[in-house]
Amino acid sequence: MIDCLFCKIVKGEIPAEIVQESERTLAFRDINPQAPTHVLVIPKGHFANAAELALADDGLADEVFKTAHAIAVAEGIADTGYRLVFNTGPGAGQTVFHVHGHLLGGRGLTWPPG
Ligand code: 5GP
Repeated sequence: MIDCLFCKIVKGEIPAEIVQESERTLAFRDINPQAPTHVLVIPKGHFANAAELALADDGLADEVFKTAHAIAVAEGIADTGYRLVFNTGPGAGQTVFHVHGHLLGGRGLTWPPG
C-alpha cells in the first residue's frame, strides 16, 4: 500500500534492524524500544490491523504468532515470559496501520497496561 511505513520497510525503502524474515513475514526492532527486547512482527502483505489479518484466514496469523515465539526463544525471553501485543485501532494506541505484533520482554511487565 502506498504511504504505509511498514510496507516501505518490507520493500527496503526505509531501513530497519531486521531480526527474522520469511517468505510472508518480517520481524524488526522497534525504533523506540519499550523493553530490552522490543521486536515488531508483521505479515509482509498489508492488513490494517489484527482483525483484518484474522479474517484473511490462510494461516498467515499463525505464522506471525509462531515467528514471535521463535524470536522470543532466540532472544532468551521465552522462559521468563514475554508479551505479544496487537494494538488495534487508534483508541488502543495503534499509530501504524499495518498490523504488527509488539514482542516485548527482558524486563518485568506490569498489568494492566496503560
Ligand atoms: P503502534 O503504536 O501502532 O502499536 O506501534 C507502532 C510502533 O512502530 C511504535 O512502537 C513505534 O515506535 C514503531 N515505529 C514507528 N516508526 C518506526 C520506524 O520507522 N521504524 C521502526 N523500526 N519502528 C517504528
